[in-house]
Amino acid sequence: MSTAFILIAAKNIRDTILDHESELESLDREIGDGDHYINMKRGVSTIVEMEADLAGYPPDAVLNKIGMKLLSTIGGASGPLLASFFMGMAKVLKEKGDESTHTYASAFAAGVDVIRLRGKADLGEKTMLDVLIPVSRQFTQLAADNMPVPQICTVLITTAEQGMQSTRDLIATKGRAAGLGERAIGHIDPGAKSCQLMIAAVCNLLLEAKESLG
Ligand code: ADP
Ligand code: MG
Repeated sequence: MSTAFILIAAKNIRDTILDHESELESLDREIGDGDHYINMKRGVSTIVEMEADLAGYPPDAVLNKIGMKLLSTIGGASGPLLASFFMGMAKVLKEKGDESTHTYASAFAAGVDVIRLRGKADLGEKTMLDVLIPVSRQFTQLAADNMPVPQICTVLITTAEQGMQSTRDLIATKGRAAGLGERAIGHIDPGAKSCQLMIAAVCNLLLEAKESLG
């Protein structure tokens, strides 16, 4: 995954977040404080605006800079968590020093682990981790099985969708929705929705890139 790919992916992520404005806003209005869309929009727009400053750096440095920028631009609970994801990923990419699918799977898993530690949350607590943990586990497994990237992408799109949908029936034990008890049931977690959208955007881009290469 080159720096050029990361910069195109950032634009696709911004577009998908902007396309889902009303959905993201209403999910956080239902079980949060309504600011999730604004937080995400600020973050993704800022990253796209950094394009010229990022272009000359290797992927690990780009992801680290993205993390640092998100830390200072996105507010709310989601900002520092997503920021730490990118910094966690960057650290592993830098240490491993290659761009294989295995390395990206390890880097993704490391990013998710940092969110877990920072947010003191785990699977089943009705947060973004209900998307990120299953996707990370699946990615690690499929990379170990040497599955080709397009097939991995197709599976991960479905895994992310299922994880996002799984939050609907959960009671929240972390984040703002934790105070709602059973009233949170029936609503999808906004952070889980935005993570699912971002994962789908990157996977679809990889699928398109393969198609155009023939
Ligand atoms: P805030 O909750 O401060 O208003 P946002 O609305 O931007 O911030 O983000 C809310 C999302 O953050 C939630 O939907 C959830 O997915 C995620 N989140 C909140 N707390 C945690 C946590 N401790 N661990 C993981 N994710 C969390
Ligand atoms: Mg909120």
